Amino acid sequence: MPPNLLNEAQELGPALQAWRRRLHAHPELSGQEAETARFVAAELKKLGLSPVERLNGTHGLLADIGADRPGAVVALRADMDALPIHEETGLEYASRSPGVMHACGHDAHVAMLLGAAQLLKRHERELKRPVRLLFQPHEEKYPGGAPDMIAGGGLRNVERIFGIHICSTLPVGQLGARAGAFMAAVNTFSIRVIGRGGHAAMPDECIDPVVAAAHIIAALQTIVSRSLALTDAAVVSVTQLAGGSADNVIPNEVTLGGTIRTFDPRVRELTGRRVQEIAQGVAHSLGASAEVKIHPGYPVLVNDAEMTRRAFDAARALGFGDERLIEMRPIGGGEDFAYYLEKTPGAFVFLGAKNDAKQCRYPHHHPRFDIDEDALAMGAALHARFALDA
Ligand SMILES: [Zn+2]
Ligand SMILES: [Zn+2]
Repeated sequence: MPPNLLNEAQELGPALQAWRRRLHAHPELSGQEAETARFVAAELKKLGLSPVERLNGTHGLLADIGADRPGAVVALRADMDALPIHEETGLEYASRSPGVMHACGHDAHVAMLLGAAQLLKRHERELKRPVRLLFQPHEEKYPGGAPDMIAGGGLRNVERIFGIHICSTLPVGQLGARAGAFMAAVNTFSIRVIGRGGHAAMPDECIDPVVAAAHIIAALQTIVSRSLALTDAAVVSVTQLAGGSADNVIPNEVTLGGTIRTFDPRVRELTGRRVQEIAQGVAHSLGASAEVKIHPGYPVLVNDAEMTRRAFDAARALGFGDERLIEMRPIGGGEDFAYYLEKTPGAFVFLGAKNDAKQCRYPHHHPRFDIDEDALAMGAALHARFALDA
C-alpha cells in the first residue's frame, strides 16, 4: 500500500497556503521573476537541496532529488510568471504590484511543486528514479521559458515529464486531461492592406484599403468552412483592425491582426498559407496589395497516452474516484509545456480549483481570478505520487 501522500500534503496545508499567498502578493511579469526565483531557491535550500539557478541566463531554476538513484530522470514542472493585469479581487493577499497579477494560477503551481519537494525529500528512500523539479519562467509570453529550461539542461537524462495547471472551469477535486493533441498550436498574423489614399468624395481617384480589408475579413471565414476537412479543426480570428484618421479621407493603408489555433502541423501549415493567399488575392482583385506576416507561437501540446494513464493512476492512488477524473476536450489555448513534450513523453493535466461558494469562479486572466486553495495539497500530492510511481 503506497503511503497516503494526500493526507501528508494536507498536513502541509498551512505552508502551501503561505507560499501561494506570498507569491500572489508579489507577482512578477514574464522574464522578470527574479524575486520569485530567489524565494524558490531559498525554500529548496532549506530542504537541503542544491538548486541550479539562472538556467540559460533566465530566472529558471532546477533541483534534483535522489540524484544517486539509477535510471532516467522524472521531471516535474511549475511555471512562475504573472500577467499584466490589475487585480480586483480585494483579497488581503492581493497583488502589491499595481498592474501585475497572478491571474493564471502560476503562484499555485510554484507552491504545489515546493510542497512536492517536501514530500519527495521525506520519501527520498522510496524513489526508484531521480526526480528533477523545474521552476520555469516566462510561460505567458512567446517565445516562452521552456526552450531556455531545455537549453539549460532541464531535460538532461529526463525520460518522462509531468505538469499541472490549475483550472478555473473544473470544480475543485476534479482532474482533467486528454491523451494526444490537447492544447492548440498558436500562430498570429498581421496583414497590411495597402491602397492609395485621397479624398473620400472621389473614391474613383483612390484605391480604398478599408473596403479591401472588409472583403479580406469576410473571405478569411472561408478557411475553416471551405478549406478544411470535416475532421480538421482550426480557429481563425481577426482581432485587430486599424486604419483611417478622418471621415473625409480614404487612408493609404489598413492593418489587420489576429490568431490561428490548430491541433495538427498539416492544418497549421495549410491555414497559415490560406490566410496569405486570401489576403493577397482579395487585395489584388480590388487593386490593392497585402503584406502578410505569419508569426509562429507555441506548438501543439501532445500528451503521451501511457503517461496520461499514469497521471490518472496517480490520482486514483490518492483516492480520486473515476467520477473525479475527466477526459477533457481539446483546448484552444496554448502552453509552452508543449516544447518539453516534443522532446520527452509526458502528461500535462488540469486540476480543478473552481468553487462558487468561495467566489472562485472567474476565468483565467480575469482581474477577479482566484482559486480554491484546497487544490494546493492535491497538486503537491499528485506531483509526488507521479514521481514515486515512475
Ligand atoms: Zn495564462
Ligand atoms: Zn497558465
